[in-house]
This record gives sequence, C-alpha cells and structure tokens, in this order.
Amino acid sequence: MSSNLYDRLLAGAESDQSICIEKDDGTALSYAELAALSGRFANFLASIGIGPNHRVAAKVEKSVEAVALYLATLRAGAVYLPLNTAYTPAETEYFIRDAQPTLIVCDPREEADLRVIAAKAGGRVETLDQRGKGSLVQAAADFPARFDTIARTNDDLAAILYTSGTTGRSKGAMLTHGNLSSNALTLVKEWRYSSKDVLIHALPIYHVHGLFVACNVSFAARARILFMQKFDAERILATMARSTVLMGVPTFYVRLLESPDLNERSTANMRLFVAGSAPLLAETHRAWKARTGHAILERYGMTETGMIASNPYEGPRIAGSVGRPLPAVEVRVTDPETGAMLPVGDVGMIEVKGPNVFAGYWNMPDKTAAEFRADGFFITGDLGKLDADGYLHIVGRGKDLIITGGFNVYPKEIETEIDAIPGVSESAVVGVPHADFGEGVTAAVVRSPGSSVDERAILAALSGRLAKFKQPKRVVFVDGLPRNAMGKVQKNVLRERFADLYS
Ligand code: ATP
Ligand code: MG
Repeated sequence: MSSNLYDRLLAGAESDQSICIEKDDGTALSYAELAALSGRFANFLASIGIGPNHRVAAKVEKSVEAVALYLATLRAGAVYLPLNTAYTPAETEYFIRDAQPTLIVCDPREEADLRVIAAKAGGRVETLDQRGKGSLVQAAADFPARFDTIARTNDDLAAILYTSGTTGRSKGAMLTHGNLSSNALTLVKEWRYSSKDVLIHALPIYHVHGLFVACNVSFAARARILFMQKFDAERILATMARSTVLMGVPTFYVRLLESPDLNERSTANMRLFVAGSAPLLAETHRAWKARTGHAILERYGMTETGMIASNPYEGPRIAGSVGRPLPAVEVRVTDPETGAMLPVGDVGMIEVKGPNVFAGYWNMPDKTAAEFRADGFFITGDLGKLDADGYLHIVGRGKDLIITGGFNVYPKEIETEIDAIPGVSESAVVGVPHADFGEGVTAAVVRSPGSSVDERAILAALSGRLAKFKQPKRVVFVDGLPRNAMGKVQKNVLRERFADLYS
C-alpha cells in the first residue's frame, strides 16, 4: 500500500455504504459517495495537469464538496492549501503569491477578487459555494468516479497549512503524508475512536483542528460526522442525544455552559468531549464536570506538529494540563536561552520531536533552521513545564512572557487572578515598554455586562494575591479583546495599542 494519506485513511471506502457526513439539511453522504466525488474531482485535477507538488488552494465555505476537494488533491498527489474564509483580498493575495497554487478554488462571491489576484500571481480559478455548487463541480461532473490514487511516500508533501497568525504574519507549515497519517492513526487509538462514533463537527475545515483532527480521525475510524456550518449551542445540545463525540475550542464549552439545558441527561449519550487550540480554563473544566459528569479531554497541538499531547482516555484528565505526550512524540522542556534540558517542574521552552513534526516552513529556510535544534527537536515557542507524572502544563507563549525589573512574569497567572474578580468578563495581560522596569505589566480588562469595576478595585483585589512585581502597573478597560479568525487573543495588537502607556 502506498503511503498516500488518502489510502491510509480511506482505503476501500469506495465500497463502504455507511454514512460518512450528514449535512445541516439532513441529507447524508456515504463513504462510497465521498470516495466517488473525490475520484471525479481528482480526475478533473489530473486533466488540467495537476500532480505531485502542485498546490491546490481552497478558500471555500464548509461543505462536503470542500472535503472531497481536499481528498481529491491528496489522491492526485498534489498539495492541499486551505485558506481561512475570513481573509481579506489583501491577505489572500499574500498567501497566493507566497504559495503559488496551480488552482485556486473560491466562493463565487469572491471570484472577481481572486481573478484579479490570479492575474498577477498566476493560477487558474474555479468556484465552489456553500451548497456545493460552482464551476469546479460542473467541470468535474462528467469525469469517472474511479481514480487510481497516486502513490506517495511518507516524506512527500500533503498540505501546506498557514499558522493562525496570532503572534505575527502566518507561516506556511509544510505537512507530509507521514505527518498527517501518523497523527490521525495515533489519535484513533488514544481516543478509542470507532465506526460507532458520531462526531459533532462545528469547527471550520481550514485548520488543523477541524480538518486534520476531526475529519482525518473520523475517516480513519469510519465514524459518522455531523457537519454544522457554525457553532450553535442550541443545535449542538439538541444533537447530543444521537452523538458520541464533540471536538471544540474552549469558547464552545464556555458558551454551552451558559445553557440551562446542559446537564447529565442531555449529555448521557456522549462519550468524549475534546478541547484544544487555546487554553481551557481549569474553571471551565471543573464547571463542565460538575454539570455533566464528563471530564473534558484537553489536548495540545499546533499547525506545525498536529497533536503533541493529550489527556488520557482512561486515567485522570487534569484541569489546566494538556496531558502526556502522545505515543512516539517526544517532548522536552529546555532553557530558552541555552537549549539545556530543565529538571521536572521547571518552566521553559517546550520542544517536540516525532513523526508528526512538519518538514519546515514554506519559502522560509532561515526561519525553519532557526526553529529546529541540531538534534531535530522543533522549538514550539510555547512555555510550559512537565510534572512528576509526565503531564505537560502550558503557561503561555514565549513571545508573551513579560520580563519586568529582571523578573519573569507569566501572563496566564495574572489573567487567572483578574478573571476571578467579580465584574470581570475576561482579561489579557501584556508587557509594554517601561523606562524603569524594562517592561511594565499591563492588564486589558473587559467588564461583564452591567459591571462598573474600576482600576482601583482590580489592583486592590490583586494586592493580597500576587507578589508586587507581578501586579499590573496599569489596568486599561476595553470593550473586547482583539482576536484573530481562530478566536485567539492577539497580544501583539494590545502591545502596540499600549506601547506609549508609560512614556
Ligand atoms: P502563529 O504561529 O501564526 O502566531 P498560532 O501559534 O496561534 O499562530 P496555531 O498553530 O493555530 O497558530 O496554534 C498553535 C498554538 O495554539 C500553540 O502553539 C499554543 O500556543 C496554542 N494552543 C493549542 N492548544 C492549546 C492548549 N490546549 N492550551 C494552550 N495553548 C494551546
Ligand atoms: Mg504558532
């Protein structure tokens, strides 16, 4: 068998009549139908000369046809390049110029913009809308469903996925067939996934969580996927009675907890709640357990590596920890300056090595070289510690660490204290230039509705709880925290906004 990811996940799917994806409108597609659709698309791709190493960019809404395009790209031996649907034309142009795709598939509403970009950067444009209609589908309609998937090795590229751009400009992570298949097959085992599972899929499909975790894992197990266009707490709650797994970002869980319908009864058929992409507050973990009896399984990953660590399926799922490294994945914590290994319990740079770790950043050989140690470990940029039981605890990103008066301050610790103050909805703590301290600890706080909590009250509440050097020098109230399209807080935006606060 070839190491093409498609074969690793979906060999034999063409004769499997079980349901693969159920759509919002109640219609469904079997594994056989998905295989046939991807076969037609793959024949079309091959007919326009697309093969190994060509890039196929997709900036399309979530649909089964979009999933079929992803699979067709793999089958044609080419490289899939999903783009966040929220990107503006200017942002999109950057990605298209950077990645030089042979084919760009976009929503018909954006066709004019993409044609302008393609005229400058090259590439053919086809369309695909949310209902699965468009020139791509028309062009492929008369091609046969059968397609002999092109053989690929573990080291061949399967996808280029741009990072979320939380800390700066997005980088294209080159992911191989080996990276993606090893991660998917590991998670099937670790999370006890089977063909009996029914997954509530309310994530977008242009990033790791929604595509490579949620879809690949379900495909490999031949599970059923319930596709929802977007997060809708009421719909998810109503669907739990006939589902077994939910994969979500932490805000899913926070929002579901706001519903009075979330309880042991409404979640009785569910066997697994997975959270990741951003830190899940320990408080959310505990509230979920109290309300439903289920412990959320938090895991940790990134675009460059897929999943790195996961809380156990059997055994304690620790609130505030992302669990142990996955099988075959090595994690170590080092001194960020020297790269020397740190003892258990010390906070340092999280480094990772394994079959899941990407092949480098597209078009950025210097950046790639700078992010790998000589012995092959990838420097994640995240800071954390391993505890005596081997569980990993993330304290934040290296770039967000605040050094004030020579002391290290981890923003998460301060944010946790501020968030617990009545009248506070959420907060983000950053370091901004300060003449005396180097950086001044600065808190951006969002009040809860109706609250009039002020700077003095917050500083007073913190004074008994945090060492003096950790206490914010200023608290600034904001209407909302700046977030990227993945919902992650953009601290660089806050640092810029408050750059002159102490000058
Ligand atoms: P960029 O690299 O462009 O700045 P990004 O790092 O946000 O953006 P992603 O690859 O989507 O892009 O996100 C990976 C990051 O998300 C991790 O490096 C980590 O900081 C964070 N993350 C993921 N899962 C968790 C988790 N369970 N707890 C805490 N942080 C997490
Ligand atoms: Mg990153």
